[in-house]
Order: sequence, then C-alpha cells, then structure tokens
Amino acid sequence: CYRLAGKRVFVAGHRGMVGAALVRRLAKENCEILTVGREELDLGDQETTRAWIAREKPDVVLLAAAKVGGILANDSFPADFLYENLVIETNVIEAAFRSEVEKLLFLGSSCIYPRLAAQPIREEALLTGPLEPTNEWYAVAKIAGLKLCQAYRRQHGADFIAAMPCNLYGPGDNFDLENSHVIPALIRKAHEAKTRGGETLTVWGSGAPRREFLHVDDCADALVFLLQNYSGEQHVNVGAGEDVTIAELARLVMEVAGFEGELAFDHSKPDGTPRKLLDVGRLSALGWRPSIGLRDGLADAYAWFCDHVAV
Ligand code: GDP
Repeated sequence: CYRLAGKRVFVAGHRGMVGAALVRRLAKENCEILTVGREELDLGDQETTRAWIAREKPDVVLLAAAKVGGILANDSFPADFLYENLVIETNVIEAAFRSEVEKLLFLGSSCIYPRLAAQPIREEALLTGPLEPTNEWYAVAKIAGLKLCQAYRRQHGADFIAAMPCNLYGPGDNFDLENSHVIPALIRKAHEAKTRGGETLTVWGSGAPRREFLHVDDCADALVFLLQNYSGEQHVNVGAGEDVTIAELARLVMEVAGFEGELAFDHSKPDGTPRKLLDVGRLSALGWRPSIGLRDGLADAYAWFCDHVAV
C-alpha cells in the first residue's frame, strides 16, 4: 500500500471536473495538495513545465489535465484534441520522470478501445481493432499517454500507472450544448424545456447507443484507491459496471429535472460507438466499488447545475 500521508501531491488540471473532484477527495488524506493555474503554468510548454515540477518537487502527480469534449467537439476539432493532449501528457510525464516523482497516475478514457470491442471491455482489448471515428483523435492521444507510462516503467522502473474511466459526470461539468458530453447537455435541455414550458427534449442520434456513467466523486475515489493499492504496467478500467441506453438516460434526466414532456430524436447527429461498457473485474478484484447510483448522481449534478449555471 502506497501511503499518501505527508506526500506532496500535484493535481494537474485541478480546475477541470476530475481534477476538482480529486482535490476534494485528497483533502481527506493527510497530504499536501499542489495546484497551479493556467496563467502561471502552461502545461503545453515543455520548459516551464519541467522547471515548475523541478522546483515544486511533488512526490506524486495526478495527470487530469486534458482537452476534453463530447462527440461533436471531438469530431469538429481533431487537431486540437490530438495535439493538445499529446503535448500535455508528454510534457508532464517526462518532467515527472526527470524530477524523480515517486508515483504518477495518468487519466485516460474508455474511448481508447476498438469501436466494436467485445462487451464488457477488458483491458486486453486495447489495440485489437479500429477505433470509433468520432473520437479517434482523443483516443490516439490517450493511448500514447498510457503507453508512455508503460515505457517509463519498462525502461526506467518508474511507478507510473494509468486508469481508464467510463463516461463521467457531476459537479463542475461543462454544460455548453455544443461541446459538452451527453449528461450535462440533457440536464440543460430538460431544465430549459421545463422553465420555458416546452413540450419536447431533443436527444442527438437514435437514443439506442449504450453508455456507462460514473459520478466524478466515485471516479476520484477510485483513482486515489489505485494510487494507494496498484502498481503495474497494465492500465486499469474504472467504471460503474452497468450501462443504460441514451433514451433511458434521457428519461431519467427528465424525471430528475421534473420535466414532463416527450423525447424527440435528431437523427442528423452522430450516435458514435454503439456500446462502451467496461469490464471492471480488475478494479473490483483490488477491492474498490462505486457508491453513487445513477439516479442519485444525476440529482446531484442537476442540483449543481441549478446552483452554478442556471442562475
Ligand atoms: P461519447 O461517449 O464519446 O459518444 O460522448 P457523448 O457523451 O458526447 O455522447 C454519448 C451519446 O449520447 C452519443 O450517442 C450521443 O449521440 C448521445 N447524445 C444524445 N444527446 C446528446 C447531446 O445533447 N449531447 C451530446 N454530447 N451527446 C448526446
């Protein structure tokens, strides 16, 4: 068991949804949390990233900084998603190695797996088939990042690990309709339809794709658990263990937001991969389980939206 007590823990990307949840979760450990704003440190710049990490000397790095977005954003800005993610992860991982960081956790995504991988998706499915075209740019960058962690472990014995979470949601999410992921988009649409007395909530695509969703506080808990209990070359899936169709999700969001209209489907928008359910056997065998069910988690995300966005 790796002990966090007394350690200097750098959360890269602390203003993002996952980074902020990690800061909340780490506050319960007896460690020193290091964060830095984008104005002070651009993780896209190699020299300043090296200098900052060399000066601050973290013992642990949690790499939650990334350019992220939903299905349409990924599809529309391929260069940004590939380039920015490659640069951030190579800069931070290499700088952490130079500064002899004891432990690094790299955060990826379940989109690294082949589009038609057998379900639930085991870690071994990586690189066994073609990727989903709507997010292959982001996926290629995340595959490179997890391979970089593996490579530093093989060549130099660095204790760098990688976690691949399913679709995440919760406080601090991006609720922009064009660029967000499905849950924040549906929350906003349901809330706005209710407020203006609308009759329908429009869902992109057919509603048939299946997705697995994990509340970001559960994800942060799993990541801290992995830091403390896992050391190995193989990346680890982090998920809820069950999935729902997008249409089922939309009905649940309507209930949570109190909108009583009908669902409409916009078939001009992409469905993306048909199903993306992770096999979480490795993580459960280590002893971790999620504790926030989808309905409760959606209620929490909706409350956050009402307090912080819809004001
Ligand atoms: P993905 O898991 O990478 O495909 O990311 P998303 O969270 O963006 O999309 C998940 C699924 O939800 C896809 O099938 C989308 O077509 C569907 N979806 C339905 N309505 C929306 C919406 O309003 N916004 C987004 N982003 N996705 C939606």
